[in-house]
Amino acid sequence: MFLGHFAVGLAARPLAPRVPLPILLLAPQLMDVAWPILVALGVERAQVVPGHLAASPLVLEHMPYSHSLLTGLGWALALALIYGIWSRDRRGALVVAALVLSHWLLDWISHEPDMPLAPGSASYGLGLWRSLPGTLLTELAMFAVGAWLYTRATRATGPIGRYGWPALAGLLVLGFVGATVGKPPPSLDALLIAAGVTIAVVVGAAIAVDRQRPTAAAARTAAPG
Ligand SMILES: [Zn+2]
Repeated sequence: MFLGHFAVGLAARPLAPRVPLPILLLAPQLMDVAWPILVALGVERAQVVPGHLAASPLVLEHMPYSHSLLTGLGWALALALIYGIWSRDRRGALVVAALVLSHWLLDWISHEPDMPLAPGSASYGLGLWRSLPGTLLTELAMFAVGAWLYTRATRATGPIGRYGWPALAGLLVLGFVGATVGKPPPSLDALLIAAGVTIAVVVGAAIAVDRQRPTAAAARTAAPG
């Protein structure tokens, strides 16, 4: 999945008001942050095969560390511990851990059976990517709900909060639709670079948006009078 992961991060805003937006968006994507790095290092293997699945050209041959359920638990624990120690926000740390693990569940729904339970185990996947309309509908619907929950839970206190947030949401939707229905990337390297650039842009934009889009409760406390 792509948009679906961002959707769960956005949906978590009312549950975890103290967790910075870039962390809410990064946590559900942590496995996909690790993946291009591990593939580039040759630890994991993948190929771009145009037309492989209706909604994805990716053949994910070997990804025991970025995408197994067991190592996912490790990623979740690591990020939750780092966030929890840094912020002392125990509830937020629990949400962060759940967000990291949500990646496995959503990828299990999307992927063909290439999602291992643990390194070396059998792999599973329901294969939503075999259906282009199914993939588009599911992820766009998820994103609409996540974006609505995030918008409802926050208030703009400046122009970046007001206009930057819909711009970021629009960019994610366009990127998703373009990548899903458009031409497959010319090579695996191009896809890995695009994945890295996407994460960097999203995190950068989220830092800027978050400064001018506090939770509704925080905006009330900060308002004069
Ligand atoms: Zn993934």
